[in-house]
Amino acid sequence: MLFANFLKKDLMNNSNEKIEEVFKGIAASPGIVFGEVYFFTKHTPRIEEKNISSQNIENEITKFEHAIKRSEVELLKIQTLTEQKIGKSNANIFEAQILILNDAILFKTICELIKRTKKNAEYIVNLEITKYQQLMLSSADEYMRERAHDVEDVKNRLIRNIQQEKLISRFKNNTIVMSETLTPADTVLFSRNNILGVVTETGGTTSHAALIARSLRIPAVLGAKGICNSIKNSDEIILDGNRGVIILNPTKETKKNYHARQKEFEKFERRLEKLRDLPAVTLDDFEIGLSSNIEFVEEIDYIHSQGSHGIGLYRSEGVLIGQDIIPSEEEQFNAYKAIADKTFPFSVIMRTFDIGGDKVVDEHVKEENPFLGFRGVRVSLASEKFFTTQLRAILRASTRKNISILLPMISSLEEVRESKRILEKTKDDLKNENIPFDEKIKIGVMIEVPSAALLAREISAEVDFLSIGTNDLVQYLLAVDRGNENIGNIYQELHPAVLRTIHFVISEAHKAGKKVGICGELGANPLATLPLLGFGLDEFSVNPAMLPEVKKIIRSITMQDAKRVALKVLELSDTNDIKNYLKEELHKVVPDIPIND
Ligand code: PEP
Ligand code: MG
Repeated sequence: MLFANFLKKDLMNNSNEKIEEVFKGIAASPGIVFGEVYFFTKHTPRIEEKNISSQNIENEITKFEHAIKRSEVELLKIQTLTEQKIGKSNANIFEAQILILNDAILFKTICELIKRTKKNAEYIVNLEITKYQQLMLSSADEYMRERAHDVEDVKNRLIRNIQQEKLISRFKNNTIVMSETLTPADTVLFSRNNILGVVTETGGTTSHAALIARSLRIPAVLGAKGICNSIKNSDEIILDGNRGVIILNPTKETKKNYHARQKEFEKFERRLEKLRDLPAVTLDDFEIGLSSNIEFVEEIDYIHSQGSHGIGLYRSEGVLIGQDIIPSEEEQFNAYKAIADKTFPFSVIMRTFDIGGDKVVDEHVKEENPFLGFRGVRVSLASEKFFTTQLRAILRASTRKNISILLPMISSLEEVRESKRILEKTKDDLKNENIPFDEKIKIGVMIEVPSAALLAREISAEVDFLSIGTNDLVQYLLAVDRGNENIGNIYQELHPAVLRTIHFVISEAHKAGKKVGICGELGANPLATLPLLGFGLDEFSVNPAMLPEVKKIIRSITMQDAKRVALKVLELSDTNDIKNYLKEELHKVVPDIPIND
């Protein structure tokens, strides 16, 4: 394979003709786009030395000034939080860092050097601050030597902020970003810069980055192993997020084919648009709850454009993305209130922070197995103050009575009870302070850990509703990391153990008189709609891009058929048999639906 690539490059050099190559990855977010590659290498920032023209000197100095301002805002936030959490003396180091940023002599020296040497800002900042550091490190005073690390932090922060501007200015309007890995924060940064698509070497369909790409409607192919070694900056590619394919140097013929496929895809989407204002009701008149999963307030306008729907899962950790510190109660309140207001008169299920795993992580917590570690409600319960801040913000935002609370990663009854105790105490505090909130606010539990599934009846008795999170439930039931592309083929949402567990959870909750929704990606898998309805599922909450498709299936079937299919599926014990059976049944009722394997 290596030899083949080598040969191809050789041929290319000789004939100067570019050779078309096809790469395969995981179809993580739909859409077909044509563009130029931009390599994103955030994790190993390199400091480039560049000559700048006389006209660009002012521009370079402005970049430096903006980076100082941005760094100062970040440090002030960190300083305030540290002071609140662990006292003023510990926060002093940030004050010292801010003093370095505001050092007039350093500022003047750097500006003068940029002018005199005509070199770029990040290069001069690195050079000049490293000089200070070395002086400090060679000092006989131990205190002084230790402070050199603070200087290193300030330097890195400044360089990062200078590079941030540089990076954003590099996105052209036909950019497809390619990277080894992708964090949710990167994806958000890209979406705010209108890039066309993303390709990575790592990550699977339910990795957090993939979910965000889908929510933000950025076509994506993840898990394309080895692609970064074969493709260069500015190469021309086609990204097919429907099939998980990347085509390098497409020929005229290929481009023509893909333009036709792009049109076909857009036509299918337009057909679904006609369902926009129709209810999600089966042919035999059963109305089914249909709502959306979101993470950012920006997504709500898109949901409105897809028809009238509530939000079945708001991933509140969206407010933490790109922040160095946890937002204050007031900041959180404003974010939650904006979501509740924009969703009204429909309702929104707000999940408390699901920090950890492959999502927003506390960089001070280093774990061997983050998915089995400090994650979700475990983080909230570890600090009553942290949890209470979020609950107060949610409760204060609930005055329109359209919010429910959802707890992530519950694995025992004790966690449910402890969370409820803290919620009740928070309500009492607000009452005593005469702050209004919805006193009848509902609370639910995510069923995404096998132990919680087995305790579904007892947990249901404690709360108002359950929501099944299949993205995690599948990974924990089958012991398959949801983001690991190497084992993507054994991450099977339609595994008999998964379907039987879901059936069990729904039956147990119904015995306790409680409703059950699904908010994992399985809810948007066309093959799953029939069995889930047949199991008695009350609500589907899906990625907004999938709303029309799920609605189309619901409107094409009868509950009677769904029950028949559900019963049959429970008898099957081989994933492939289940898939084949479900494909057959689905094609009988919705023949034109595209199914991804
Ligand atoms: C899930 O696990 O299915 C879920 C909806 O939560 P998340 O994807 O945010 O972990
Ligand atoms: Mg989950």
